[in-house]
Amino acid sequence: MTAINHAVFGAVIAAAIPHPYVALPLALVSHFLLDSLPHFGTTSLNEFLKVFFGDGILILVFFTILFVKQPIHWQLLAISAFVAMSPDLMWMPNALRVAKGIPRKKLNGIMKFHKNIQWGERPWGLAIEIPWLIVFSYILVSIER
Ligand SMILES: [Zn+2]
Repeated sequence: MTAINHAVFGAVIAAAIPHPYVALPLALVSHFLLDSLPHFGTTSLNEFLKVFFGDGILILVFFTILFVKQPIHWQLLAISAFVAMSPDLMWMPNALRVAKGIPRKKLNGIMKFHKNIQWGERPWGLAIEIPWLIVFSYILVSIER
């Protein structure tokens, strides 16, 4: 899933259950749950970069709204959003290696699991991700009212 969908879902968890010892582990688990649903993915570098760029802007907008509006438990919402996105950081070292022209390292056990659950990664996955983002953004705003 896109980072913004992981972040919003993590924030929804923290808004619904504002207890760090419950919300943060659930936010971490939610990453793998969302990745196991059909979502955006492509082998086209150009298409990937466009969505990656848009995702980055939405993440900036999301955290800016959180920091400016400071809804109740906003720090927990921000941390939970970050925790929900964080498993994708495991792809960073290999992405940097590829960018530098260095061969990738072999995937470890958690990376293989993380890759294998993403059976439904397709370019048409945006047709699921966009309504998903709208619905869970609405839920987040409704809870935080
Ligand atoms: Zn992931």
